[in-house]
Amino acid sequence: MGNNRPLVAILSGAGISTDSGIPDYRGPKGLWRRDPEAEKLVTYDHYMTDPEIRRRAWVMRRDSQTLRAEPNAAHHAVVRLERAGVPVRVITQNVDGLHQLAGLPKRKVLELHGTAREAVCTRCHRRSGMQEALDRVRAGEEDPPCQDCGGILKSATVMFGQRLDPVVLGDAMAITKASQLFVAVGTSLRVQPAASLAGIAAEHGARLVIVNAEPTPYDDLADEVVREPIGSALPALLDGIAQEAGAGR
Ligand code: ZN
Repeated sequence: MGNNRPLVAILSGAGISTDSGIPDYRGPKGLWRRDPEAEKLVTYDHYMTDPEIRRRAWVMRRDSQTLRAEPNAAHHAVVRLERAGVPVRVITQNVDGLHQLAGLPKRKVLELHGTAREAVCTRCHRRSGMQEALDRVRAGEEDPPCQDCGGILKSATVMFGQRLDPVVLGDAMAITKASQLFVAVGTSLRVQPAASLAGIAAEHGARLVIVNAEPTPYDDLADEVVREPIGSALPALLDGIAQEAGAGR
């Protein structure tokens, strides 16, 4: 890998999707953490043991804006960087799939917390489209079971009380260590493992850039901290990198 084509790792959190109308559910100040009843809907033990919780979780998914959201200027800027020939990998805390919807190849996106766009069976692990499950909910099934084995179906997101996928986590770590530029965008860097990735990147010599409205615990370690709105700040930053890479080729 030449110096003029550095690997860029982008760690994205809820803040990159707020312009798409998706609120922060999961962060330290997120909706779920402020509402214990809502948190139960996304807590694995409650979900697996209480049919009423599952019924309410399906209503929440049916009414959620997440699957109706469109990518915004920040998601599109990441795609432009990738199309400019710069090696890019996205590590995201988001489950909205908006990086891929914007046009980033699926293999270049690591979803630390899974995806809300798929459903998964908790017994046989078969995956299916979330829309397909929601169609069954709209048709009157309050807690649609797996169509293969009858097991409990859930969204393919990592619930509270569930482990992160160790393969995804290992890949995220490898990309972080290999990156020359690590951009943390729209994340408070207060939730693991995302938080420690920023530290690891800096430790391994990457240039660390933080784009976030609020201060983060890693600001002192960062080479650059950007407080401007993500929708304009990220395109400015990434388009600059794309231009430099193009000029240096
Ligand atoms: Zn099943």
